Amino acid sequence: MINFNVPPFTGKELDYIREAVERQKICGDGIFTKKCNEWLEQKTGTTKCLLTTSCTHAIELAALLCEIKPGDEVIMPSFTFVSTADAFVLRGATIVFIDIRPDTMNMDENLIEEAITDKTKAIVPVHYAGVACEMDKIMEIANKYNLFVVEDAAQGIMSTYKGKPLGTFGEFGCLSFHETKNYSMGEGGAILIRDEQYIEPAEIIREKGTDRSKFFRGQVDKYTWVNFGSSYLPSDMNAAYLYAQLELAEEINQSRITIWNRYYKNLNKLAEKGQIELPVVPDGCVHNGHMFYMKAKDISERTELINYLKTNEILSVFHYIPLHSATAGKKFGRFHGTDRYTTKESERLTRLPLYYGLTLEQADYISDKIIEFYQTRI
Ligand SMILES: *Cc1c(COP(=O)(O)O)cnc(C)c1O
Repeated sequence: MINFNVPPFTGKELDYIREAVERQKICGDGIFTKKCNEWLEQKTGTTKCLLTTSCTHAIELAALLCEIKPGDEVIMPSFTFVSTADAFVLRGATIVFIDIRPDTMNMDENLIEEAITDKTKAIVPVHYAGVACEMDKIMEIANKYNLFVVEDAAQGIMSTYKGKPLGTFGEFGCLSFHETKNYSMGEGGAILIRDEQYIEPAEIIREKGTDRSKFFRGQVDKYTWVNFGSSYLPSDMNAAYLYAQLELAEEINQSRITIWNRYYKNLNKLAEKGQIELPVVPDGCVHNGHMFYMKAKDISERTELINYLKTNEILSVFHYIPLHSATAGKKFGRFHGTDRYTTKESERLTRLPLYYGLTLEQADYISDKIIEFYQTRI
């Protein structure tokens, strides 16, 4: 059986976890957390990075820093993971979903402006499959209307837009290190903070509303409760697992891109015949091989394809059920404009196995089975 995903493992993880344990310092903000933060700051060029317990929590932290209040509106695509919306719903916001572009499956930047009302507080671009949203346009609109931009860059580490890393355009960028992402710590994430002014408030919320981070730096002689907060810092054992992969980030990235390119080359014959559609990476976007997806003709062809692959021991999956059509989506949000592409395109999309360690022979086998499936359909 070829699994859809295998969590990344490079070999050094257990040594680093042992090191954390032997230091007798396994709570948050230990040595490996610092190493990860510094690595991510250096790699992305952001002002500050703080590791969090998940990307979901990074977005929650961002929503708190944006001071989202009941009645505020937040604009995002409907084609995304639930966490993008959940974090703002917890603050009482109304979610305003807009349609996606069919080429990248990202929010259509040309539909943002008409969705803005005097209640709008933030725009939340999701960089689907590690391919950037049109950030020039999005930042221009945000600046014009004085809105926050919180980037859901859960899938976007190591990707760039016009040379600049994803997650560094808006006030806040949120990364995921869940086991299904390019680099993992089991469950985990990070918040990238663009502006100096948000560093201290973020540290306080992340540390239960205390100024403990300042205390550890020796800036205050005892720490106290200074604001509302929660606990968004991961254990140093988890950070140790992640650090082993960050050290090999380039190699992992290259390996994923090689697999992605192989799928693209193999399946392009079908695309040229108009039988399937392949992902589009616009000029100026460099992606990270996070995901390889293809689009079948419609939902019934997709179901048949997934079943065909399963009988050939290949696990492929689809996602997302558009949020605006879900029970919670109806309760907490509304769709602005027409759903031209969100539902239709999401019903056609299938993701193929792609993980660090998948061989090119396996990618060829999977491609062959897809080609075989379409041969039976002419
Ligand atoms: C994975 C993912 C998340 C959630 O990440 P967690 O670290 O599991 O909380 C949020 N948004 C998108 C687009 C994702 O792909």
